[in-house]
Amino acid sequence: MASSHLLNSSSFLSKSNSASPHHHRYPCPTILCAATPSITSPPVLPPSAPPPGLSFSAKYVPFNSISTNTPTAESYSLDDVVYRSRDGGLLDVQHDMDALKQYDGHYWKTLFDSRVGTTKWPYGSGVWSKKEWVLPEIDDEDIVSAFEGNSNLFWAERFGKKILGMNDLWVKHCGISHTGSFKDLGMTVLVSQVNRLRKMNSPLVGVGCASTGDTSAALSAYCAAAGIPSIVFLPANKISMAQLVQPIANGAFVLSIDTDFDGCMKLIRQITTELPIYLANSLNSLRLEGQKTAAIEILQQFDWEVPDWVIVPGGNLGNIYAFYKGFKMCQELGLVDRIPRLVCAQARNANPLFQYYNSGWKEFSPVTAKTTFASAIQIGDPVSIDRAVYALKKSNGIVEEATEEELMDAMALADSTGMFICPHTGVALSALMKLRGNGIIGPNDRTVVVSTAHGLKFTQAKIDYHSGAIGEMECRYSNPPVSVKADFGLVMDELKKFLSERR
Ligand SMILES: *Cc1c(COP(=O)(O)O)cnc(C)c1O
Repeated sequence: MASSHLLNSSSFLSKSNSASPHHHRYPCPTILCAATPSITSPPVLPPSAPPPGLSFSAKYVPFNSISTNTPTAESYSLDDVVYRSRDGGLLDVQHDMDALKQYDGHYWKTLFDSRVGTTKWPYGSGVWSKKEWVLPEIDDEDIVSAFEGNSNLFWAERFGKKILGMNDLWVKHCGISHTGSFKDLGMTVLVSQVNRLRKMNSPLVGVGCASTGDTSAALSAYCAAAGIPSIVFLPANKISMAQLVQPIANGAFVLSIDTDFDGCMKLIRQITTELPIYLANSLNSLRLEGQKTAAIEILQQFDWEVPDWVIVPGGNLGNIYAFYKGFKMCQELGLVDRIPRLVCAQARNANPLFQYYNSGWKEFSPVTAKTTFASAIQIGDPVSIDRAVYALKKSNGIVEEATEEELMDAMALADSTGMFICPHTGVALSALMKLRGNGIIGPNDRTVVVSTAHGLKFTQAKIDYHSGAIGEMECRYSNPPVSVKADFGLVMDELKKFLSERR
C-alpha cells in the first residue's frame, strides 16, 4: 500500500502539464524537439520487449454482437461517422485482441508503468499511456490532450474508519482534472478522432452535445484547444453556474433550451442527422474508450492488485460499462486474474436502472427524472441501458440508490473528513454506506468509490446544505458560520463555548 500511496501523489501531474505545450499544432520548435523524442517515433518500450508491430487496430461493431457473443459481419471503420448499428442499436469499439495478445500481461504492465508521469507526448496522459488499447491507429500529432487522467487515488482513511468501520476504502478522484470531471477522459479521445477526420478533409463543421453540464465543459475545452467549433445544448436552469460558465468561457456556441436533458438529447440527435456536426454524447462509443482507462489506472495504482468493489454513480450509464470494459481487458490480456464487483449508484429521483434491477431485470421503463442535487445523473431514459445491464451481470454487480437527504448527508460527512466531493460522489458513498450497513460489503473489503466531478463545481448545493436552507431536509451535518460582532469579549465567549463543546 505504501507504494501505491506514492503513486497517488499527483505531484507528477504538474510536471507533465507544464511540459506538454500542444506542440503538435505548431511547426516543430527546436527546443521541444530537443527535449522530446520525434513525435513520430514509436512508444518507449521496456528493454526486454519486442517492438510492437504497427498491427494494433480497432473498429465499430454492434454492441449486440458483443453482449450476445455472436459473430457479425457488420463493422465500421473508426473513421466513419456512425453512431448506431444497422438495426438502430448501440455500437462498441472492438479491439483486435489477438494482436494485443501477442504481448503478455507483464509486457503491458511494464509498458504502462514506464509511461506514468513522463512528459512524452502523448504518453504522459493517463489515457494515452494506454494508447494501444484506446485508439491504436491515430497519429500522435493528431491527438488533442490536456494530459488528463493520472488522478489521485485517495486512501479515505478517516471516512472509512470513523463512519464505516473500514480500513481499505479508497476514493478515485477522477474529478480533479482539467475541466473538473471525469468526462475529460473520454473527450480527449473523441476530439482527437474528430481532429484526425478534419485533417483527412472530412466535411465536419463542428462537434455537438446535449449535456447535464460536465460533458459540455469537457467538449468545449478540448475543442477550443484544437480550434474546432463546439455546439452545446443545455437544459435551461438545470445545471450549476460553474458548469454553465465553462463552455461559455471556452467559446462554445451555447443553446440554453427550455427542456430537460432527455429533451436536449433528442434534439441534438435530430440535428446531427441533418448537419455535418459530430455527435459527442456517450451514445458515441469512442468516449467510453477513454473513460475505461480510469479502471486500468486504478489497477495500476494498486500495483495491479484487484480491489473487491468499485462503486460508480450512474446516469446515462455509459461509464459503468466503461469501467467494466477496462477491468475486463486487463483480465483478458493477462494483467490481472479477476475483476472487481461493480456497484452502480443512482439518485432515487432518477433511478430507472435501480427499478429495473429491483424487478429482477424483468422490465425496463424509462422514468421522468426529478430534480436532484446530483444534476449530472438526472437522466430518466439512459442511452446506455443495455451496456449497463451487461456490465452488471458480467461483474456480479449491484445497483443501489440514494435519496436527496442521503446523498447530501454523505457528501457533508465525507467533506468533514477532509474531502470536498460532488453530490454524485455523495450518491456513490450513500450506496457504500447501505452496502456496509447490510453487510454485503465487508469491513476489510478493498473498495474504491469513483468520484466523478470536482466539489468546487457544486458550491451552491453545499452552501444551501450548510445554511440549512433545503426544504424538508434536516441537514444534520451542517456547519454554518457563527456571526459575531467585532468585540474581543464576544469573540472570546464564542470560542469558549466552541472549545467546551469539543471537550
Ligand atoms: C457523466 C457523469 C456521471 C455519470 O456517467 P454516466 O455515464 O452518464 O452514467 C456521474 N457523475 C458525473 C459528475 C458526471 O459528469
